[in-house]
This record gives sequence, C-alpha cells and structure tokens, in this order.
Amino acid sequence: MNKLMTLVVPLAAMLAACNLPTPDMAGPDASSDQSAPDASYVAADAGQIVAPPSGLLDSHVVCQGCTQELLAAKTAGILDAMEKVIAYAGADIRPAHALATFHLSDDGFCGAYAPGTTGFCSADAAGLAQFCLFDLEKQNRALAFTPENAAKAQDQLLAVHESMHGWFFDRVGNYGIEEPFCKMTSFVISENFGPDFCRFFTGSAYPDRLMTDLCALGLDAAKTGEVLHQVAAKADARNSALSASEFADIVSGVINADANPAFRAAGLIP
Ligand SMILES: [Zn+2]
Repeated sequence: MNKLMTLVVPLAAMLAACNLPTPDMAGPDASSDQSAPDASYVAADAGQIVAPPSGLLDSHVVCQGCTQELLAAKTAGILDAMEKVIAYAGADIRPAHALATFHLSDDGFCGAYAPGTTGFCSADAAGLAQFCLFDLEKQNRALAFTPENAAKAQDQLLAVHESMHGWFFDRVGNYGIEEPFCKMTSFVISENFGPDFCRFFTGSAYPDRLMTDLCALGLDAAKTGEVLHQVAAKADARNSALSASEFADIVSGVINADANPAFRAAGLIP
C-alpha cells in the first residue's frame, strides 16, 4: 500500500491521482515485446498458443460485491471506452503494463474506500497497471451504479481518467502534465462537458491551469489527441519518458504556437 498515492479532491470533479511505477521507468526493451509468447500463455485446454495480454482491451474488470449483471455492464462500458481511448490517443498502453485491471470495489489491492477519494491508479509489483475506481462504495456518483448506467459512455469518466495515467507510464512522468491531459481525454471519451471540452478549463490553479492556457492558445479535443499520438510515438521509439520541455515542444508543433509560456506559467519548465 505504500506505493499507492491517493488524492482527495471534490468528488464532483471526478479526478484522481496516480502513482507512476518508480522502478524501471524506462520499461523493457521494445524488441522484447515482439518476442513469441512464452509457455505461460499456452491455453491448457485447447493446446493452442494465444497472444499474451498486450493492451487495454485485454483488461480485467473485477468487483467484490457486484452482481454479475452489473459487472458485465460495467465491463462492456469500460472496454468500449478503452477502444475509443486507443483510437483517440493513437496508441495503447505500453505492453509492459498490461494486463491492466480495473477494480470496481475496494479489495486486497486497492484497500478500503476512504470517503472523498475518487480513485487512483498504480502499478503493482510486476509493473501491471491497476485502476481503483470504488464504483461500488461511492455514495454520490454522477450516475447511480446500475447495470443500465454502467454501460454508458458517460459513466466511464473515471475509468478513462485513471487508464490515461496508466497510458502515460514510461511516456510522461510528470503529474502536472498528466493530470490536465487525463481530464481532457476523460471528458472527450465519456462525452461529458462537451462539445466544447475546453469549457471546463477556466481555473488558474495547478494542475488545471496548463490546460486553461493551452486552450486559450488553440488546443482542442482533436489537437489533444494529436499531441498524445506524437507523445507516444516519440517516447515509445526511444523507450523513455519525455521531459516537460519535450512535451511542450510537441504541443507547440500541434497548435502552431509557442506553448512554452503556458508550461512555464504552470511551473512545469524553468
Ligand atoms: Zn488524475
């Protein structure tokens, strides 16, 4: 549990913190991801080799206390959202962090739900992404936690937000950058706060201020997706996370304006 970090924030904002995996930030050599599945992925029953889990669409969704109907509905909603995340960001999570698990209730990994907590993401000891959402325990979810609601795009705000922190593993190791981009992505995919997704970003406080300023410079939903695409391409190609300055350069290129003052005002670069 000492690897987990929670951030208590107003629940209405549906935001959460994420703890990046501290060991092995660089991740495995990319070439190892191309290797043949090892024996652990041989399906014993069929005697056939199946592909190892490689991304968000392989994610497990677990819940202690949900009905089967509720679990199935939420799983469908999450996986549908993950498909959209991958398309929007132009990349899946790094294979080293799959198989990911979405936890809908408190359990042995996530621990007990603390009122006021929204959720968090973390990497377990093996580096696999773990997303703790506490859907079952929350009293004031935006939508009641029912099978009908759980499958809706609008119910995937937190799942997308946390999954994006996992998406940033080995690509960006800076909470001040990740958080506003996790928020923007979660709004777009869950179709909350649209169609002008910048409308939410009016504050001047950390960490939202970065997106407030970037929106003023012309960043929008489509350009945010393009930024993410280029971030993944650059980080994955060299197998290491981008610096804040490198991230700002990508934003500048996408919006065709100098993003450095926005990153500087947010305290992210000197
Ligand atoms: Zn967050």
